[in-house]
Amino acid sequence: MITIDLKENSVLPGGMRQTEVCFECSVCALHCIVQHVAGFDSKNTFVYDLFRSDDPAVHRALWACSSCHKCVEVCPQDVDPLSVIVHLREKGFNEGRAPAYVYDLVKLVLETGYAFPITKKTQKDREELGLSAPDSSAVGEIRCIASRTGFLEKLK
Ligand code: SF4
Ligand code: SF4
Repeated sequence: MITIDLKENSVLPGGMRQTEVCFECSVCALHCIVQHVAGFDSKNTFVYDLFRSDDPAVHRALWACSSCHKCVEVCPQDVDPLSVIVHLREKGFNEGRAPAYVYDLVKLVLETGYAFPITKKTQKDREELGLSAPDSSAVGEIRCIASRTGFLEKLK
């Protein structure tokens, strides 16, 4: 592995020194589906733009990632950009600085057990497809897990 001593990103915890070995080759961005939808720009690639951001935990690109793992597979430096993205999301979320829709989505899951609204159309579509009615019986368990792990506290 080639190691280039880039400036360490102090936002990442101790063991995550990925920013030091990323040599900004753009291969991850070339394979990133989100980057392609947004329009690929080799001077401003998805991953190292995050690494260089003054406040990567709230960078808009952070929340566009679909966690497809493609960047992990193709990176020649074993940087594992997704693990960095996940860590930064967690940090932004815990500090209450994630986008509002993220908290709304989490609340929806805790209330209904689904990550999308169950509307009359949803129910009709499922019926037409021969699928069972939406089942929210696991909501109690989800809330129990969220409570015992301290996750509910983070939403206050
Ligand atoms: S593929 Fe790896 S080394 Fe290349 S820019 Fe992406 S994270 Fe950095
Ligand atoms: S995991 Fe995220 S950053 Fe990596 S290629 Fe997929 S969408 Fe892009």
